Amino acid sequence: MASFTLHGIPVSRGIAIGRAHRLAPAALDVKHYLVPEEHVEAEVVRLQTALATVHRELQTLWNELPKDAPTELGAFIDVHALILSDPMISEAPLDIIRSRHYNAEWALVTQIEELSAQFDEIEDPYLRERKVDIQQVAERVLKVLMGSEPLPAPQTQPDDDEFMAQMVVVAHDISPADMLKFRDRSFIGFVTDVGGQNSHTAIVARSLDIPAAVGVSQASTLIEQDDWVIIDGDAGVVIVSPSALVLEQYRERQLAAQRARKKLSKLKKTPAVTKDGTPITLLANIELPDDCGPALEAGAVGVGLFRSEFLFMGRASDMPSEDEQFEQYRRAVVAMKGRPVTIRTLDIGADKPLDPTEHTALNPALGLRAIRYCLSEPQIFLAQLRAILRASAFGKVRILIPMLAHAHEIDQSLAMIELAKAELREANVKYDPNVEVGAMIEIPAAALALPMFVKKMHFLSIGTNDLIQYTLAIDRVDYEVAHLYNPLHPAVLQLISMTIAAGQKAGIDVAVCGEMAGDVKLTRLLLGMGLREFSMHPAQLLSVKQEILNSDMSAIGPQTRKILRSMDPDVIADAVQALQTL
Ligand code: PEP
Ligand code: MG
Repeated sequence: MASFTLHGIPVSRGIAIGRAHRLAPAALDVKHYLVPEEHVEAEVVRLQTALATVHRELQTLWNELPKDAPTELGAFIDVHALILSDPMISEAPLDIIRSRHYNAEWALVTQIEELSAQFDEIEDPYLRERKVDIQQVAERVLKVLMGSEPLPAPQTQPDDDEFMAQMVVVAHDISPADMLKFRDRSFIGFVTDVGGQNSHTAIVARSLDIPAAVGVSQASTLIEQDDWVIIDGDAGVVIVSPSALVLEQYRERQLAAQRARKKLSKLKKTPAVTKDGTPITLLANIELPDDCGPALEAGAVGVGLFRSEFLFMGRASDMPSEDEQFEQYRRAVVAMKGRPVTIRTLDIGADKPLDPTEHTALNPALGLRAIRYCLSEPQIFLAQLRAILRASAFGKVRILIPMLAHAHEIDQSLAMIELAKAELREANVKYDPNVEVGAMIEIPAAALALPMFVKKMHFLSIGTNDLIQYTLAIDRVDYEVAHLYNPLHPAVLQLISMTIAAGQKAGIDVAVCGEMAGDVKLTRLLLGMGLREFSMHPAQLLSVKQEILNSDMSAIGPQTRKILRSMDPDVIADAVQALQTL
């Protein structure tokens, strides 16, 4: 097959070389992992058992039909039983488990997707509609499967099976919540048709430290199942069916990157101090408590942003209880062994919906998101605050409030925290009475009204992802305007610099926890603006530390001031590049 190249937006660095695995949206709703060779037959039996159980269920339904039941009902059950016995359902998914090593649920959904596509082509509308019956049968089987004990997902892929260890996901879109399901590392790269540089899907891809390109228009239609694919995550380029020569070049780059990483790992215990002796705090961004391991591994001195909404996403009808949340926050706090853990309160909404099927507002990014949602759902907010406060009895916890813009939102948030504390005191539950509370500065209005914040908050954390989105009116998820999403826009730089300066003046800590903090090309610029606290994905931490170790504040300062005085994008871009050579 002829080679071709697709262009998208680079979101997670590195090079991935593997076979394409196209994932249809439905396939994302079930667990998907690769079953090790020795468990394949057991997985086949698991699916066979589920099929047999559904057979029995249908038989019982048929036997228990009331005498006066309409005849269509019996016929309906017959059709489902026939579908279930058809080799398309009773055998093809078993072959998928055997040949591709998919787990049972994934194999079934893959087969159903293929069948559905075939049904869509049928001219006869009656027959075309039978697709629904197939889906209903599959749902029954899935329900049984989900109730049956799955074999544990392997943590690492079998080394001896090169094909299995090299799968690249190709999908139209992947939600941030679905992205989290890829944590078992079954996949080595991601390509999606849509998405932006700082969409939450891209952020999770970065946190998984797996090469990814989004906004690769038409990728999911042009790339075929099992095509060889190279993802150049630094350039956002996807090469399909590469020639042997190109493949060789990329393999060499991959090896060079591996060597560089190995070298970086030696910096883990080195304190982050600039050449002239300025100490810098490097913190980790996490989505779930399990990320604390990689955070410590990378030498983070604390968690600067725990995106707590990942505990809630996709659980609209089964929200995590106060106790469940407490357990998760406590796990993170204990894992960090006394280092501070900054837990951001629920930032649900926009591209992180609680219920992805629910009708969303016309402009969700401007809607009932984050603190606005929490203040409109006081019981949910209070339960979360109590859970966070309870975790503060186990180590240093800080509370971070997202999307604040109004004075009354600050006051109401603080009042809710006091209320949560009072409830805990009443119940004789321990918490740290000195828990610090901080505000995310991520709406331009907040950056322009900083006295409102510094007076009442213990610390500030600049959310550059949203600050850029709202300053430039660029939807961070929309790939059609992604080229306009520019962290170096003078307006953005002014707002960041003003926030850092206001914090310094008031004597309170200011961090950057947006993606800018983990971008080594911007490290010196942020240092020059006076930033002393950076929070980023663990995978980025050592590169940023290396940049800090090589930086000299006396050289960076004057150049940064020049950048901040300029309104010319070319001058700014050149000067930022020049900063790196100082
Ligand atoms: C930000 O907006 O920069 C941020 C850190 O929060 P999130 O990306 O989760 O919106
Ligand atoms: Mg944000």
